[in-house]
Amino acid sequence: MEVRAAVLQRHDEPLEIDRIRLLDVGAHDVIVRVDASGICHSDLSAQNGTLPFPPPLILGHEATGIVEAVGANVTRVAVGDRVISSIVAPCGRCFLCTQGQPYFCRTYQPFPVHAADAEGNPVGSLVGLGSFAECMKVLEFTLVPVHTDLPPEQLALIGCGVMTGVGAALNTAQVTPGSRVAVVGCGGVGQSIVQGAVIAGASEIYAIDLVEMKRQAALRFGATHALDPGAGDVVEAVRELTDGLGADYAFEAVGQRATIQVARQLTRAGGLCVVVGIPKRTDVVEVPAFEILQSTLAGSPYGSGFPARDFPRLVKLAETGRLDLASMVSERIRLDDVNDAFEAMKAGTTIRSVITSF
Ligand SMILES: [Zn+2]
Ligand SMILES: [Zn+2]
Repeated sequence: MEVRAAVLQRHDEPLEIDRIRLLDVGAHDVIVRVDASGICHSDLSAQNGTLPFPPPLILGHEATGIVEAVGANVTRVAVGDRVISSIVAPCGRCFLCTQGQPYFCRTYQPFPVHAADAEGNPVGSLVGLGSFAECMKVLEFTLVPVHTDLPPEQLALIGCGVMTGVGAALNTAQVTPGSRVAVVGCGGVGQSIVQGAVIAGASEIYAIDLVEMKRQAALRFGATHALDPGAGDVVEAVRELTDGLGADYAFEAVGQRATIQVARQLTRAGGLCVVVGIPKRTDVVEVPAFEILQSTLAGSPYGSGFPARDFPRLVKLAETGRLDLASMVSERIRLDDVNDAFEAMKAGTTIRSVITSF
């Protein structure tokens, strides 16, 4: 079938809206009609080459939609199901899946090619999804069916930013009630960490971002303090707020060396520093050996997410008003406006733009 899609043809150039052809449906393939796709910072990183995926590539990986067709052996979803896509495709059987770490499952990687251009040349799909398109062809293992009336622009966010952020607080760090939490970087993931810390019962949450709009948003999501790194030393400020100790948990949601170092310095002795942002593969962070003795530095790939377990939980939290997805959506846009949304993201004027019209 032919669909409209936003395709990266060359790194650092605007996406092109092209008609592409989804390849024939294989035994474990599913066609999803996309209702909404969030624009995540990782899409921008793929666009500018920070994430080294080769073009041509359909971007988009934070999506919800309705199952339109299924392959002969598909058992996880059925035609008509409402689904959220996951950025991992856990097989459920490999060593890593059975260890409860489905986010490291590589059984279905490299991801198969799902699409071709008008000349028949293969077109890749970001993390096997490619949701900046009317329809996407994906492996059934990436999909989780959900039963809810939440609007698509909210549901889509669960697939990446919300899973990653709320999961970092609840799954990776397991933030304890009454604890003090610092969050460095308050985009979609950072705001989700703030919300996860609220759900976990943190007593104080220090939201740190250069952008005033994001600091104000974090306060609305439940942060108790908003700190501007451009206006003073945030490490010093958090020390003062924590009786000279530092935060019990510090989360980094930017993916840069400098902000990882800040998060480390915000963590108290005996505390936990969690790297959530995706750094460049070549970046190196130096940590004084003595400090390794004193606190824990952990990674949180995809919020240590277990999509089949966590997506329905996140939906329930949203339905009961404990997770505010509506306020995460800065704007609903058309597929044709995707490049403008990248510019808005670079300018720091949005939490999330979500494509809802294809
Ligand atoms: Zn993402
Ligand atoms: Zn597996």
